[in-house]
Amino acid sequence: PALMSCPQVQRALLALTVPLEMLQAVKGRMLQAMRKGLSRQTHAQANVRMLPTYICSMPDGTEKGDLLVVELCQSHVRTLWVTLLGDGNQSPQVMYKIFNMPGDITQGKGEALFDFIAQCVRQFLAGISSPQHRLPLGFVFPFSCRQTQLDKAELISWSKGFSCSDVEGKDVVQLLQSAINKQELYHVDVVALMNDTVGTMMTCSMGGTPCEVALVVDTGTNSCFMAEAQQVEMAEETSGWMCVNTEWGCFGDDGTLSDILTPYDQRVDQESSNPGEKRFEKLVGSLYLGEIVRHALTTLAAEKVLFIGSSVAVLRTKDVLKTQQVLEIIDNEEGMAKARSALEALGLQPSERDCCRVQQICRAVVSRAATLCAAGLAAILSHMCQSRELERLVVNVGVDGELYRGYTRFREILQSVTGLLAPECTATLLPSVDGTGRGAAMVTAVALRLATQRREVDQLLAPLRLSRTDLERVQALMRQEMELGLGRESNANASVRMLPTYVRGTPDGTERGEFLALDLGGTNFRVLVVRIAQDGIRMASEIYVIPTAVMQGTGEALFNHIIECIMDFQLKQDLMEQVLPLGFTFSFPCQQLGLDKAVLLSWTKGFSASGCVGQDVVQLLREAAQRKQHLGLKVVAVVNDTVGTMMSCGYDDPKCEIGLIVGTGTNACYMEEMQNVELVEGDEGRMCVNTEWGAFGASGELDEFLLEFEKLISGMYLGEIVRHILLALVEKQLLFRGKPCPKLQTRDIFQTKFLSTIESDKLALRQVRAILQDLELQASFEDSVLVREVCQTVSLRAAQLCAAGLAAVVEKMRENRGLARLAVTVGVDGTLYKMHPHFSQHLQQMLQDLAPNCTVTFLRSEDGSGKGAALVAAV
Ligand code: ADP
Repeated sequence: PALMSCPQVQRALLALTVPLEMLQAVKGRMLQAMRKGLSRQTHAQANVRMLPTYICSMPDGTEKGDLLVVELCQSHVRTLWVTLLGDGNQSPQVMYKIFNMPGDITQGKGEALFDFIAQCVRQFLAGISSPQHRLPLGFVFPFSCRQTQLDKAELISWSKGFSCSDVEGKDVVQLLQSAINKQELYHVDVVALMNDTVGTMMTCSMGGTPCEVALVVDTGTNSCFMAEAQQVEMAEETSGWMCVNTEWGCFGDDGTLSDILTPYDQRVDQESSNPGEKRFEKLVGSLYLGEIVRHALTTLAAEKVLFIGSSVAVLRTKDVLKTQQVLEIIDNEEGMAKARSALEALGLQPSERDCCRVQQICRAVVSRAATLCAAGLAAILSHMCQSRELERLVVNVGVDGELYRGYTRFREILQSVTGLLAPECTATLLPSVDGTGRGAAMVTAVALRLATQRREVDQLLAPLRLSRTDLERVQALMRQEMELGLGRESNANASVRMLPTYVRGTPDGTERGEFLALDLGGTNFRVLVVRIAQDGIRMASEIYVIPTAVMQGTGEALFNHIIECIMDFQLKQDLMEQVLPLGFTFSFPCQQLGLDKAVLLSWTKGFSASGCVGQDVVQLLREAAQRKQHLGLKVVAVVNDTVGTMMSCGYDDPKCEIGLIVGTGTNACYMEEMQNVELVEGDEGRMCVNTEWGAFGASGELDEFLLEFEKLISGMYLGEIVRHILLALVEKQLLFRGKPCPKLQTRDIFQTKFLSTIESDKLALRQVRAILQDLELQASFEDSVLVREVCQTVSLRAAQLCAAGLAAVVEKMRENRGLARLAVTVGVDGTLYKMHPHFSQHLQQMLQDLAPNCTVTFLRSEDGSGKGAALVAAV
């Protein structure tokens, strides 16, 4: 009632109240400001700086050892000694000491400040007779820094009353390390620098509850949260998490908050040491609350609705009303009495009604701080929820600072308004128990753990990372094997067989007709009819299953089955009456003696039908046709799938003179000069040679790079390679916390297509986790990052080796033709090449690097096996 009766007081209270819709708007603006800070393009102009902290991991409980922490606070330096026992951080032992800073040091020389801090460290260590082994130190430095590593941070600018000379723009880690060295504490090693908000987040993360957001509401205000590293564009990290220090105190410095600022706020700002700056902080931080109240009271007194009869001149003095007093006045029980004593201490003679009105004003100011803080927090939560593509975000928020710790009212408002503004998020606020120190120790410990792990992972993956020299060597070896394969004398001993295909030319576009095609040796067995006309190629096809029993039974049964499938197809397509020329895509190594005569050298890809190796497969097919009394079959060509691929792309691009397959297996063919194909008579023109390069390495050429070529590149093996590496990482305790993974012991359980999913840019790491979960692997986020790194390493190596092979081919072609530059197109097929998100790009890049004198274009073949076989028949 006391309020209702007074319009002036009502107006003041109204001005200090931010309605819910306006809070929504503030949240939206904060979100916008955050995005601006994260983006590389707009970062420089952003008020909310969103600084990368290079803290990319949360404690996992295995951290262990003695750590030193130095915390630079407003008026003191705190040193801590923390011993972690590797017991899930249940009971870290903490000792600490506080050193008050000489008043003038914060305005003096930077060197003096850092010397003072180093002296604190020395005294602290002397007091606890610490051992002289290497002591990692974490430095809590609550100022805006441009961090480029965990232990590299340039001070952007001082705040909070600090203004030491010669520090801004310098690396404060280095300044502290030099000061420490001056104290001859050579065993103390500054390994991490962090902001106080980060320390809070980490402190609240101890004891098993991960905490991914932190909020500090003290004299100033700030926040941090774990973002997906990819979004933190100012940092080079692209995988995993990174903690971002929002520096949200500066929110509003560009005027975005002007519509909620009251005249009292404007006056507080004008009287502050940094007018126009830190507008959000001046609404929320406890340093300013007393001042806001003072200006509100001054105005009301001038309007003659407060302290009637008292002299209010005292209210014109800055800082006469302390935030501490404001916070006492808002208390439900003691508040009125506190208001009276505070006002009386200022020499005012407040009436009961005055006290009541002052209390209302104080409450409005504190509530507004809490609601604005909630709007900021809601922005962070919604951002996290959106960027993680979650329907619901459940998260813990560590909170520190006197406003939050001391005042139930502030806590309650913060909690409930955050809930209203970000209803899609469930945030549990966790008060930080003993400040940032323990958290800083955790950051330091995590940094050490990660550094050790990184070394071990690098060691394990090093053999898979091929240097340019390695790849040049592979290229040279491939070239050497190709020459051996082509030579009449050396052919028998070559691992790369360089099989003549009797295909003498690529299509010129004038081919016409109707053909049957068979495709055996890929994932499916198919029968096709292909019509090549002036207006293009049309096809119809049918997929048939070849049961494993047939693949591995007798040759007779296999070829009988094939004829049955053909007959079925002809029946369905109404082709029984016609005798169409047939091209047979047969993707196994064959010694071809003519276009329609191919002796099987060996089965691959799971086939092992008896009585076929050493036989002409066309003859086997014809015999089966006879057995089945199918007389209308005219086989005119046996075609390897690489050749089919080259021919089908050649139909669209006359420059296409290479065929490449990267699917279940890998292989390549290309147009070689007849004079080099020593196994076939004649020196005129060219012939397509099927390299069968999958076997490259079979005679030990690649021993220095492990395995056989195909097992390094193709779809059948990449998943397996990854699986074996993962097992090795588990064994070394570097993955899944070293827990045994029974399911990972199963052969082929890690499919090659997982590499594609895991390496896809669009899928966030959480989906990697889902894949791993299907394999009954409980992956932490770091685990997922590591699994992705393994996949990347394996697929990159595959692409680069493939490039080395192709480089040998294109360079040979260029030399054959005596050209300074060769422009050539490669027709490519295979699911690995087509589906993997980066394989093709890595292949192309590396090839360009290894064969700079060749311009190589890649053309994806659509149904090369069918179209290609028909085109070979047609050509
Ligand atoms: P083929 O070479 O037998 O004709 P494909 O070209 O279809 O067959 O390749 C099959 C191979 O591709 C399999 O080894 C499989 O592991 C792999 N694979 C399947 N899906 C994907 C994918 N999404 N990304 C990468 N590899 C894949």
